[in-house]
Order: sequence, then structure tokens, then C-alpha cells
Amino acid sequence: QAATTSAASTATEYPTSHERISSPVDTTNFIDNEFVTSKATTWIDLHDPATNNLVTRVPQSTDEELKAAVASAEKAFPAWRATSIMTRQQIMFKFVGLIRQHWDRLAASITLEQGKTFPDAKGDVLRGLQVAETACGITSQITGDVLEVAKDMETRSYREPLGVVAAICPFNFPAMIPLWCIPVATITGNCIVVKPSERDPGAAMILAELAREAGFPPGVINIIHGSAKTVDFILDEPAIKAISFVGGNRAGEYIYTRGSANGKRVQANLGAKNHATVMPDCNKNHALNAISGAAFGAAGQRCMALSTLVMVGETKDWLPELAERAKQLQVNGGFEEGADLGPVISPESKKRIEDLIASAEKEGATILLDGRGYKPAKYPNGNWIAPTIITNVTPEMTCYKQEIFGPVLVCLNVETLDDAINLINKNEYGNGEAIFTTSGPTASRFQKDIEAGQLGINVPIPVPLPMFSFTGNKKSVAGGGASTFYGKPGLQFYTQQKTVTSLWRSEDATHSRASVVMPT
Ligand code: NAD
Repeated sequence: QAATTSAASTATEYPTSHERISSPVDTTNFIDNEFVTSKATTWIDLHDPATNNLVTRVPQSTDEELKAAVASAEKAFPAWRATSIMTRQQIMFKFVGLIRQHWDRLAASITLEQGKTFPDAKGDVLRGLQVAETACGITSQITGDVLEVAKDMETRSYREPLGVVAAICPFNFPAMIPLWCIPVATITGNCIVVKPSERDPGAAMILAELAREAGFPPGVINIIHGSAKTVDFILDEPAIKAISFVGGNRAGEYIYTRGSANGKRVQANLGAKNHATVMPDCNKNHALNAISGAAFGAAGQRCMALSTLVMVGETKDWLPELAERAKQLQVNGGFEEGADLGPVISPESKKRIEDLIASAEKEGATILLDGRGYKPAKYPNGNWIAPTIITNVTPEMTCYKQEIFGPVLVCLNVETLDDAINLINKNEYGNGEAIFTTSGPTASRFQKDIEAGQLGINVPIPVPLPMFSFTGNKKSVAGGGASTFYGKPGLQFYTQQKTVTSLWRSEDATHSRASVVMPT
């Protein structure tokens, strides 16, 4: 059991190794710029996925704590929205600088709690940091429109903050996803309540500490914890005007439906099943390296992981070579030098992934490379699965229909580009798709005809940089993707438009009769 500590003045410092922590410290709430010890009676044990040693306990924040976080945000809102945009911009500049300064510390918390390798965890931080950096350009991004619509009459449009907003985050990007939300929500004048994943809240806690140091006033950013109960509180709390959710379909579809029914704006990015299409004319080495990296990196726990391979024509003969590359990847504790992928998040997740591999075998597929049973010598108790390649897969198989979210690549063979496009478009998800080809016309055809939100042409994980937006499609977003994260749509999500039409005439009217018709 972790010791209950009195409220700390900073986020917890974690070691940069997988050694057992002798006295784990409980995760606190962050309310009103204070790290507050929870009075929770229910705690969620958080284990290092490489060892299954206890790292911390995460509270199921009490009702009083959840309410206190929202009250703090509501109280902070009037002054924060009245704070000049230049001041908010200066705070964001400082926040950005501090994230860079604490980059390694943030990454270490991710490697310890989430399992991904330290260099990959640095990428997790960077991709979120870039959203904060882009938010610093708010002064030119949020300008409205003005038009003289008639003589002496003009119409102006403004974007105003919504008030209190909330973010509900997944486990797989503990820094990036909170940073898809916090900078955009706050720079536009909102106050935000963040619920990190209960499986790895450490990075979000460090971000809160850095935000306070950067000068965010008390209440602008609050962090609460827990699982479904905390989510239900967010969904039903009238003061919360908008919810940003990233995670799986089960939770996300529920959150979208109940949040929308309660009159809130909801943006929700959900699960995926991304395909890489390999054409015989592609640069073979580039394609095989890219696919191996994108399928197995982060142990396949990325919503943009290339988890499905569509081999067109003779490229199916390249599978043994792909397996050789996958075998070279080192599976090890994320702090170990040279580790390419770490463990999966939990023993339950490992079992679910192993069951899906077994289902493929049962349903007639071939396990070309079997990563089950692998254990690095130094970490016998972790949640390990080494790269696994399943071939001769057909669209009816369970391993094709479900998101596996592990280091498992399922491979289907087709004869033509048309067959590949038909197959991909029939899949209910539409997050990211990639094609490897040296033919312009082939790439152009793929680009036009594929129904998915993010396409890579010779690029394996085409996550858009923050000057664009994360544009999932089909079942990979709720609500048809009407609202997407960061970029211009992100600013729109967190702001309400106001349109003002004014008439300024120096002389008074010369008649004294009211007009009752619409002006024609
Ligand atoms: P998850 O849905 O299990 O959890 C996400 C959040 O929802 C967590 O904060 C969790 O506490 C909460 N939650 C979980 N179950 C709930 C329930 N029954 N009721 C209410 N709240 C609940 O997702 P995860 O396992 O943390 O993350 C992996 C999933 O996220 C994958 O499906 C992945 O594809 C997806 N993802 C999508 C994107 C994207 O941009 N499309 C990005 C990252 C992850």
C-alpha cells in the first residue's frame, strides 16, 4: 500500500529506472493550483507495466473534490476571460519553455507509468508541446471578421470562451492528449478540468505544476481522477459546457451521447484499425522499415498504429523479410538502452491481445511471427508481447474486426489497388491509412477514393501537425467528426461565436414612424 502523504507542493518525482519504489506516494488532485491529498475511500493501484511493481495509487476523487474542482474553475473564469490575450500569450510562452525544460522528467513519468520507451515518451511530450507552441500564435489565429454591410453599418464577429470545459484522456499518450486540450482551451479564455487516464496520470500532474509556475492563475487548470464515476460527474455537471474525449469506442460513444443529451459540446476521438497498402512499385526498404516501426512502435498502442497490412499482388512474398525486420526489434524495459518497444499497459491487456492471436489461429490464419511468451531476462514480471505477425487473414476474422492495440500486425493479400480500396472502405473505422507506392496516379487515386480522415503517402503514421487538425472519420470519431482536435477546428470548439451589427450615424432620423417590415 502506498503511504498517504500530506499535500505536496509539487508533482511527484519518479525514478528514471524500473527499480521498485520503496515508498510509493499517492497521486493527488490538483485544485486551485494546489496539490491536494484526496480523501478517497477507493484507490486504483498503478503498476509499472515492465515490472508490475506499485508506482502510485490514484484516487477515485470524492464527490466533494470533483465539485471543488469545478467550483474553482467557475470562480476563476470571469477574471481569466478578462485577462488580456497578450497576458495569456505570455503565460503560454512560459508554459512552453517549462515543458521543454522538464521534457526528460515528463518522459520518465510516461515510461514508468505507461511503459513506452524513453525516446518514444519524449516524442509523446513533443507532439503535445507543439500544440502549446502553436497556441502561442493565438493573437493572429483568433481575429474575427469585420465588414461594412451597409452605409454606416458594420458587422463584426468575435469568438468568446465557453466557460468551464473538461478533458477525458486515454492511457496511451499521457502528455500529448492533455496537451491537445489544455493549451487551446485556456489560451481562448476557458478554464479546464482534466481527468487523465487513471492508468497513468503522472505526466498530467507534472504539466499542472509547470502551468502553475508559468503563471496560470488558480482554477484555470484543475485535475481530478477516477474512472467511470468521475466521467459521469463530468457528463452531468451543468457548469461544464464542453467535453473533449479521446479513447475507445465503448466509453466514447457513451460519453458523446450522454454529454450531447445534456446540452454540452462534445468532441470525441475513438478507436481505429489502420491499414498500410503496399504496392509492388514502392521503395521496398522504405516501406518495410516504415511498416515495422509503425506496427510495433509503442507496442502497437497508438491510435494511428499501422495494425493491418494489405499486400497487393506479389508483395505478399515480402512477408518473410518483414518478419526478419520485426524480429530485430528489441522488446525491453523502456529505460533500457536500445529498447525498441516496451510492455503493454496491463496484464488484462496482454491477455486480451494473446486471446486475439489465439482466435486468429483458430479461425485459420497463420502466425508467421509469434511474440507470445517472450520475457526480457531482467523483467520477468512485465506485460510482454514481442512483435507478432499474422498472415492469411480474411476480413471476417476476429483479429481483423477488432482493434488489437498491441504489437500485432495482421496481413491480408489482395490482387489489385481496387481490391485494397474496397477492403479498406468496408472497414467501419476511418482513422489513418497509408499507401506505399512510387506512382503518382496510384497515390492520387488512393487519396481520392479512401474514406478515412488521415492519409499517408509513403508516410506511415500521418498524424497532422498542430497547424492542421486531427481529422478522424467514420467510427473513429463520434458525431461524424463535426468537431476535431487542435488547429482551427480546435479553436472553434472551445469558443462561441458572437456577431455584432452596429449602426453609427451622426444625424438623427428625419421621420417619426417605425418600420415594421424586414428591410428589403
Ligand atoms: P478508454 O476508452 O478505456 O479510456 C479513455 C478514458 O475513458 C479514460 O479516462 C477512462 O477513465 C474513461 N473510461 C473508460 N471506460 C469508461 C466507461 N465505461 N465509462 C466512462 N468512462 C470510461 O481508452 P484507453 O484504453 O485509455 O485508450 C485506448 C483507446 O483510445 C484506443 O481505442 C485508441 O484507439 C483510442 N485513442 C484514439 C485516439 C484518436 O485520436 N482517435 C488517440 C489515442 C487513443
